[in-house]
Amino acid sequence: MDAPAGPVRVPFLSLRPGEDADALRAAVMRVIDRGWFILGPELAAFEAEFAAASGAGHAIGVNTGTDAIALLLRGLGIGPGDEVITAPLSAAYTALAVMMAGARPVFADIDPQRHTIAPDQVEAAITSRTAAIMPVHLYGQPADMLPLQKIAERHGLALVEDAAQAHLATCGGRPVGQFGAGAAFSFYPTKNLGALGDAGAITTDDSALADRLRRLRNGGQRARYQHDEFGVNSRLDEMQAAILRERLERLPAWTAQRRVLAARYRHGLAAARAALPAGPDAWDAVLRLPPECDPGHVYHLFVVRSSHRDALQAHLQADGVETLIHYPLPITRQPAMASEAPASCPEADRAATEVCSLPLYPSLPVEDVDHVVGSIAGFCHRATTGRRDA
Ligand SMILES: *Cc1c(COP(=O)(O)O)cnc(C)c1O
Repeated sequence: MDAPAGPVRVPFLSLRPGEDADALRAAVMRVIDRGWFILGPELAAFEAEFAAASGAGHAIGVNTGTDAIALLLRGLGIGPGDEVITAPLSAAYTALAVMMAGARPVFADIDPQRHTIAPDQVEAAITSRTAAIMPVHLYGQPADMLPLQKIAERHGLALVEDAAQAHLATCGGRPVGQFGAGAAFSFYPTKNLGALGDAGAITTDDSALADRLRRLRNGGQRARYQHDEFGVNSRLDEMQAAILRERLERLPAWTAQRRVLAARYRHGLAAARAALPAGPDAWDAVLRLPPECDPGHVYHLFVVRSSHRDALQAHLQADGVETLIHYPLPITRQPAMASEAPASCPEADRAATEVCSLPLYPSLPVEDVDHVVGSIAGFCHRATTGRRDA
């Protein structure tokens, strides 16, 4: 299991289009030749196709995932004076979008196994001002939705899902986005379904809400030059819609491949743990593999935890393996949140010092996964024996 000596390079991610490159070029040319760039046939078709793929009645394309969250909240009438309970371990945009809607983000700590908001912590954070609960399906793993749904129902709160990392994910076999009023998706280039630029969408089964969101994203216009309410300019453009349509076709296969690679990481790391001379307990003191809590996980990221995280990252870097940290600072600790007086979230604080995201993307060669596993095995050997060469 030792890392090969050669100059292997495993990038975290590759954003240059691969098997889909020709299809994307053709899609872009199709839009150029049509000469229709905003609110045209590509967006209409993508919205119908994305809604169908997500098991939702409607999809509304917008500029970013951040806008999707903010507009979904506003569409539900949530704004100034309201609180939205959400996750401290996420992209900061989750909370910034709540603030864009004029509401206050309130943070409930995470479940340390699942890394998504802990239902009991959510219930404890409810006040008379709480209007909504917004779990984040972090790393592609669905949040624990059934208890969250019960809490929302019991307290008469809206349930909205930040599904920016969870396209096609399911929870208990049911598609994410189907547990409450609606869901926000991002098509930022690194996401499981990525555009070649910024893009996002909202899904909902509520036709009246969908109609309102179509107005809100388009300046609040009911008809051309008829601005009935305060709307914004946030439309998913035709070029990105055409690109996303090509990629949506491939997304089921790409998701399957992410799961294959994640399973290979899991099996490889389990075998290395079993083979560690110092024994599995010694391994566990160095490296922990968060469980797959639901088979509907779509592995946006493959994350391990280590109490020696920075040393692990340096070791992998020396072996040519690029890793990233999602996220080095919980949202509660961001200076931008100071005005919101966030509660402390000790489990999110601990996770932020221990998580490390390994390379994972659909075209990642299995040999590269094996190289990463070998490098981690070497690190655990070194950490448990004090020897440099494993
Ligand atoms: C990417 C992301 C966002 C923001 O999406 P953008 O399209 O970049 O605005 C929000 N929440 C989560 C969990 C994300 O991963």
